[in-house]
Amino acid sequence: MKQSCIFCRIVAGELPAHNIYEDGDSLAFLDINPLTEGHTLVIPKEHYEKLEEMPQDKAGKLFEAVRLVTEKVQKAMGTSSSTVGINNGRLAGQAIPHVHVHIIPRYLGDGGGMIHSIVRKPAKRSLEEIKKAIGKEF
Ligand code: 5GP
Ligand code: ZN
Repeated sequence: MKQSCIFCRIVAGELPAHNIYEDGDSLAFLDINPLTEGHTLVIPKEHYEKLEEMPQDKAGKLFEAVRLVTEKVQKAMGTSSSTVGINNGRLAGQAIPHVHVHIIPRYLGDGGGMIHSIVRKPAKRSLEEIKKAIGKEF
């Protein structure tokens, strides 16, 4: 646990939150400043700042919790859609440096956009250069 981390303190029960799901590795609670009704955060109980810092098994468990909580929240909110995502890193808008997955229930006429509307920056490099930089397998 990182004492200076708000989400670690929620896991430890030192700060209040409305928890809606918990298992050995993950915790889900309502966002304090919801973007839509039922906006929920799912976090690993252990402190990792960014997704790629998580060991494979922990990331897998987190994703399974996200799957379960998405179903639960959608049912409770009476919708069948949600936007699910992570602001991974400062440049992506991550404000709390403890991995958290946003589950944002979506509603007919909510006026929101889709993930494709977050950013569109024209590429400077050609697709061939991008392919070369990323490679094909690890
Ligand atoms: P980020 O930009 O880091 O992806 O989003 C952080 C989210 O955490 C925001 O949606 C914000 O409303 C939420 N948040 C920040 N502090 C607290 C808190 O103390 N309790 C809860 N439940 N949510 C929080
Ligand atoms: Zn933390």
